[in-house]
Amino acid sequence: MLVSDADMALHDVALWGDRRMTGTTLDDYTDRYASRTRGMTASEIRALFAVASRPEVVSLAGGSPYIAALPLDAVGDMMSRLTVEHGTSALQYGIGQGTPELRERICEVMALSGIDASAGASPDDVVVTVGGQQALDLIARLFLDPGDVVLAEGPTYVGALGVFQAAQAQVVHVPMDDRGLDPVALQAALDDCARRGRRVKFLYTIPTFQNPAGVTLTDERRDQILAVCERAGLLIVEDDPYSQLSFEGEAPRPLRARRRDGILYVGTFSKTFAPGLRVGWILAPHAVRDKLVIASEANILCPSGFAQHAVNQYLTTMPWREQIKTYRELYRERRDALLDALRDLMPAGTTWTRPSGGLFVWMNLPPGLDSKAMMPRAIAARVAYVPGTGFYADGTGAGNIRLNFSFPPPERIREGVRRLAGVMEQELAT
Ligand code: PMP
Repeated sequence: MLVSDADMALHDVALWGDRRMTGTTLDDYTDRYASRTRGMTASEIRALFAVASRPEVVSLAGGSPYIAALPLDAVGDMMSRLTVEHGTSALQYGIGQGTPELRERICEVMALSGIDASAGASPDDVVVTVGGQQALDLIARLFLDPGDVVLAEGPTYVGALGVFQAAQAQVVHVPMDDRGLDPVALQAALDDCARRGRRVKFLYTIPTFQNPAGVTLTDERRDQILAVCERAGLLIVEDDPYSQLSFEGEAPRPLRARRRDGILYVGTFSKTFAPGLRVGWILAPHAVRDKLVIASEANILCPSGFAQHAVNQYLTTMPWREQIKTYRELYRERRDALLDALRDLMPAGTTWTRPSGGLFVWMNLPPGLDSKAMMPRAIAARVAYVPGTGFYADGTGAGNIRLNFSFPPPERIREGVRRLAGVMEQELAT
């Protein structure tokens, strides 16, 4: 059939339109992604997991609690009773904010570190989340526009960087030392952002047994940081997964125990019970609570009923305080094994932090060594760590390494350090 030029042109336009809608080939997705995905890159840690989990590799890379220390039989019995006795609610949809029973328990847990009714904590202002990770994601959804600045410790938690980058925010790192985040540097960062006309939305901080640095903000600095933020009208997101894992007395009271306004406090049962259940929470200012619930309902409808019941049962029927003591003792022993091995085996010029709780040690390599470039050699020597670059938004951190001590037993930790030190000696010699 003969067709006119005009028909041909229309046909071409239609085809072109088709192509625009469906892309040139169906396996090419690159120009279909939303622009916000440009900030999404694979976490260096996740990429490492596959190699690091091979049995011949000593992994100092992860951040996993030592779940084998849980009384698994008793937890199993609890779970099956839970299904039989509470199955009709545990296996049903629930409310977006989380069950009232669990929110009560969460308040009891927070009260142990001073976030109690006198500090304005109430089950009404708790939102149950899918781990601390969803808590951070909800906070980002609520507060971050593209281009907003988030201030965070340098280095900071890699999962928070992922969330803030996905929200197209810019993370500006504030330096830390062995007393934690530096309040003078925080003020300077705020002044600098103000000079550049950048809007700072909040300070994201992990004040206690920080991930990845293992340092803890001192009492004195807690008050100074609060004062700086209060003067600037700056919201604080306090991420506190580790404070119950203290090896030397009690951890300093959280920021939220010292001030009730302007702080979103994020907690989780991942490190004190089990990360596989994926239960965390936000204690939010009352005015923010409803929006968080709406955002969470749009995201997940409601947190897992089964997981919430499981945590609630665990906290009401099992000796969970004893279990935290067990974790503390276990990790203290492993921390000591790591610090001893580092002292005995690391080449001169290497320094590291001495955490008094939590899961991590942060190491400064001798000048000239690059933790990312060294990684393939370390894997060949059957030891894994996380290069420091994963914990900065700006690509710095090549001179650092994060070491985990919660998962491998002491003799494996020492063997891992021996292998790592060997790799470093070799690098220094070339
Ligand atoms: N915040 C920090 C500082 C963390 O280290 C982690 C986990 N490693 C999380 C939040 C998220 O943990 P989860 O989602 O398991 O509660």
